[in-house]
Amino acid sequence: MNDLISDSTLPVIALVTLLQFVNGRRREREDPTGKESHFHLPSHLQSTTVDVALKLENVKKVFDSRSASAKKMVVALDGVSFEVKRGEFVSIVGPSGSGKSTLLNVIGALDRPTSGKVFINGQDIFLLDDARLSDVRSRLIGFIFQSYNLVNRMSVQENVEFPAIFSERLSSDSRTRALELLETLGIKDKAKQKPVDLSGGEQQRVAIARALINDPDLVLADEPTGNLDTKTGREVFDLLKMLSDRFGTTVVMVTHNLELAGMTTRSIYIRDGRIEKEILHKDLSETKASSAAASKDITSSSSEKAR
Ligand code: ADP
Ligand code: MG
Repeated sequence: MNDLISDSTLPVIALVTLLQFVNGRRREREDPTGKESHFHLPSHLQSTTVDVALKLENVKKVFDSRSASAKKMVVALDGVSFEVKRGEFVSIVGPSGSGKSTLLNVIGALDRPTSGKVFINGQDIFLLDDARLSDVRSRLIGFIFQSYNLVNRMSVQENVEFPAIFSERLSSDSRTRALELLETLGIKDKAKQKPVDLSGGEQQRVAIARALINDPDLVLADEPTGNLDTKTGREVFDLLKMLSDRFGTTVVMVTHNLELAGMTTRSIYIRDGRIEKEILHKDLSETKASSAAASKDITSSSSEKAR
């Protein structure tokens, strides 16, 4: 499509840019030509239902675990349905073994549901072929795990750039972006180090930067503060909150920490693979109002050691 871009298409680019702004896709990182980030989105990655980022319909997941002696079926998700609006920061809360990680893995297309549907940007993702599904995974979704899952043989910067390889976006642009993200997260000075030499809080910041390299619409975090002390955990949480407040990124976070859950827009309580209850903490518009000032504090208070 590149060769189609000429002076006469500039008004079209302006319109597309505006529409993406309306759709909440606009980011602080902007390509002034509008070519890079806006013109290559295949239809299965585009937002068709503006307000709903994520929708689950009666999602079930049954694990058929065959061990040497026993064979048993585990119903990890037993008919889960909910919607998440664009820009919402939703927390998933529930006891250990209740199905939270399974739920996040299904939403992030790391695992297929046994039955039921998952819609991202209005697209039923499990109807897509494997190539398109992995496109969704790498370009629309950013994953953050409790144990960071960084590659210790690579530098911090290489870890952050890594997902750009799969989305065909590795270029000098993604190198610059990786450094910008590390700077925003307060760890640019660690770019050349190995993750293992960083504190837990710093490693989780690297993982957040990696999750953001492809500018995802949806960030999924599975107990991202679970291995961190209270103060560092709060800082990591504040970064996720900044994403939602300042960039309009939709965030779904699993947590055991009810205090943090109370600061998200909504908590979904899971028990035995079902939704037990939902608690609305904040109106979405209310969250947006309290954004900029708080995010400034976060980006400047960074390089605390967690261990
Ligand atoms: P949570 O994250 O809430 O602690 P999980 O989603 O990890 O819960 O697990 C939900 C249930 O599914 C548990 O009973 C767990 O043992 C089971 N489970 C999870 N993953 C697998 C798997 N790959 N194979 C078999 N059983 C699994
Ligand atoms: Mg879990």
